Order: sequence, then structure tokens, then C-alpha cells
Amino acid sequence: ARAGGIGNWSVFHQQMGLVAEYRQWIESELHTAFERGDFVVHYQPQYDLLSGKVVGYEALVRWRHPERGMIPPQEFVPIAEETGMIALIGEWVLRKACADAHLMPPECSVAVNISTVQFMTKDFLSQVRGVIKATGIEPHRLELEVTETAMMQDRERAATILEELARMGISVAVDDFGTGYSNLSYLIDFTFKKLKIDQSFVRRLETDANSGAVVSTIVGLSRALGVRTIAEGVETENQATLLKAAGCEVVQGYLFGKPAPLQVRETHVEPPRRV
Ligand code: C2E
Ligand code: CA
Ligand code: CA
Ligand code: CA
Repeated sequence: ARAGGIGNWSVFHQQMGLVAEYRQWIESELHTAFERGDFVVHYQPQYDLLSGKVVGYEALVRWRHPERGMIPPQEFVPIAEETGMIALIGEWVLRKACADAHLMPPECSVAVNISTVQFMTKDFLSQVRGVIKATGIEPHRLELEVTETAMMQDRERAATILEELARMGISVAVDDFGTGYSNLSYLIDFTFKKLKIDQSFVRRLETDANSGAVVSTIVGLSRALGVRTIAEGVETENQATLLKAAGCEVVQGYLFGKPAPLQVRETHVEPPRRV
């Protein structure tokens, strides 16, 4: 029997030792997929633990292949990074997310993942400026999620870019914090607004005391640096409670909402009045 979804297909290939072939297929399909308009953006809410309100949405790209179905980002983003296609896809996601921000409550920010390759592109800043101009998003509503790895490629350049983004009023969150470099000296050089606690720490929060210690330390570090903390991958009430107790301000995870297409409220138009 034929496997239905891409997930099965991918597992099948891994079992057959045909990973390379699957990679090659993705690589050859990416460009067509982009031009065909296969990519969509889903949004996952970010909750403020104090107010209990949604304060932002993270934009997460999805590849809807007409025959293969949904291909998860872990399967194509790394390949798109290798081939450089991520620069095109990433710019499109940025543009789409900034345009979609107009359909979100005005107090909500939109967080966009920036890959290392995209961050290192020569014209990255002008790309961001262009998108802001074209979409009219207020810069303070835009947040860029950048990993430590991206910032460490070229520290001097990264510091300059981060400074300029801050000057433009755009905030930056350090994504997957604690999973990249153990060298924390970059925190001194870099301008950013948030540390995003990686879900690997959140997952082990209930069972592993060390995980709790790491989370408390990150929160303490954030406070000392004057930045905010957000935790990702929150799946249980207990995790949310522990994070709140540790002083974490914002949370994101299946407990509060899975990534989903933007819910656009239909505009209500009054029917013409009978006279
Ligand atoms: P990430 O930036 O760390 O995003 C968080 C991932 O965790 C997302 O996976 C999200 O759907 C998932 N997640 C959210 N809440 C929960 C939860 O409660 N439990 C669990 N187990 N998972 C949760 P997703 O959407 O599959 O994306 C995976 C990765 O792909 C992202 O990790 C990011 O590194 C990359 N990615 C996604 N969209 C983009 C994009 O537009 N541009 C770039 N450059 N990378 C992207
Ligand atoms: Ca992210
Ligand atoms: Ca993350
Ligand atoms: Ca991650």
C-alpha cells in the first residue's frame, strides 16, 4: 500500500536508507514550490502570564505540497539553508507576517524566525526596511527571532545589525537560548529585548530539578540584563505554573494554542436598508 502523508513517506525512506534521495527531492522541489505558492504561514499565540492575554504571535512557515501534503520545517528549512533558498523563503515569510499583522489585534506583536543565512545576507537590513515600508507595520510590533548561532557567525557585524534594528524600533529575541554556545560573553556585546527559553528545558521542568535551576538562572540573567523572558513548548498546566513561579513572563506552547492559520474575522457589512 502507498503511504499517505509525507511523514510516512519520510520514515519509509529513512528505513530504506534513502535519506539522501529524499533530501535531493526536497532540494529540487523547493524552487518550484516557492513559485507555485506552496508555502503558508501559521501563527502560534504568545501569552502573558500576568495579564492572561495574547501579546503576540510567532510566524511558522509550512510547506503544503500538492501531492505529498504537509512537509514540516525541520525537513526543509535546513536544506533551504544549505542551498540559500531560505533567503527567498525567509523574506517572503517576513513580508507575509508583517502584512498579516494588520489583521491581528493592534497590541499584538508578530515574531518572525530569521535563519543564520538570512541574517548574514549583505542586504538583510535593507530587506527589513523594505518590508516595513511596503507593509506599513509599526516597527515596534515586529520581533525577529535570531539564534545564538546566527549572531556568532560574525560578532562585529551581528552587533552592528542588532544595534541598527534596535534603533529602528524592532525587537530581537534570542531563540533557543541555552542550546547554542556556552560562551555567554556575546550577551555583553549584543542588543536584544528577549531571551527565549528553549523547549528542551521546559519539557524536563517537571521531572528534572536541574532544568528548573537552568530556567531560574535564565530568568535571573534576563532581569539583570533588563530583558524579558519567553518560554516555548509549554504543554502542561504544571509547566506553566512552574514557569510563572520562576518569574518567566510570556509563554507559548500547545497548552495555549497550536500554530494555526490566521483567524480572520469576516468583515460585517450591513445589508442595504429597505425604504
Ligand atoms: P522554533 O523556532 O524553535 O519553533 C518552535 C517549534 O516548536 C515549532 O515547530 C512549533 O510548532 C513547535 N511547538 C510549539 N509549541 C509546542 C509545544 O507545546 N510542544 C512541542 N513539542 N512543540 C511545540 P515547527 O513549526 O515545526 O518549526 C520547527 C523549526 O523550524 C522552528 O523552531 C524554526 O527553527 C524553523 N522554522 C519554522 N518557521 C520558520 C521560518 O519562517 N523561517 C526560518 N528560518 N525557520 C523557521
Ligand atoms: Ca522561533
Ligand atoms: Ca525556539
Ligand atoms: Ca527550536
